[in-house]
Amino acid sequence: MGEVDEPEEGRVRTSWGSATDRGHVREVNEDALLTFPPVFLVADGMGGYDAGDLASRIAVEEFAQLAGAVSVGVEDVHACFARACGRMRAEFTGGRQGGTTVAGAVLVEVDREPYWLVFNVGDSRVYRFSDDGLEQVSVDHSVAQELAEAGVIRRDQVSSHPDRHVLTRALGTGEAPEPDYWMLPAGTRDRLLVCTDGLVRELSDDDLAVALAGGGDPQALADRLVAAALARGGRDNVSVVVVDVVPVAALVGESWTTTPRGVWG
Ligand code: MG
Repeated sequence: MGEVDEPEEGRVRTSWGSATDRGHVREVNEDALLTFPPVFLVADGMGGYDAGDLASRIAVEEFAQLAGAVSVGVEDVHACFARACGRMRAEFTGGRQGGTTVAGAVLVEVDREPYWLVFNVGDSRVYRFSDDGLEQVSVDHSVAQELAEAGVIRRDQVSSHPDRHVLTRALGTGEAPEPDYWMLPAGTRDRLLVCTDGLVRELSDDDLAVALAGGGDPQALADRLVAAALARGGRDNVSVVVVDVVPVAALVGESWTTTPRGVWG
């Protein structure tokens, strides 16, 4: 017998959908998103004039360098944050200020098992929906969240606190980026939801759990979530990425039409 090919049962790929909308109130869409395996993220830009657009776009462009990468580690993700920060420092001079949140995940392999390397800076979010229900993986870098962590307010008061949108960390021109990282097993029964605050401003975690429990195609779900946020008022730009991990064997014979893309307002 010669060498045996590696068994394929353990191999996985991603299937995803995404949607973004300016909303009903804001004049421009300063959100951006990236869906290009193995990296999936949203970025919520902020700043005067076109600075917010530019900041979220810079983040997407730098993370797009991970697109198609076979092996990605925390240091590679951190390098994207650092390069984006360096470009923002060069762009935003003379008192012009801009910054962005970044939240997302990269599919990585550890000991031949798939994992999600989740990252976050700011108050965009990464959720995991599994057999155990909906769980927020990322932790917001907001004043209200930090008050809850410190025990000053209750966790159930965060979503109504007046400082829930005041960020304590963002990717921008200030100090070196301080993202948080998590490593999660990437189960083929799980689904990741990555979104900007424009979604969670309109939909509660219970609303999200009901929507995710409905299942279905990731693109249809992303479209449905954005439509629901618009129907509830659409007071902010809203962006959603939905990603599944799919066994390679399950893809045989399927058409593969989901197009990788980077999108900005
Ligand atoms: Mg926002």
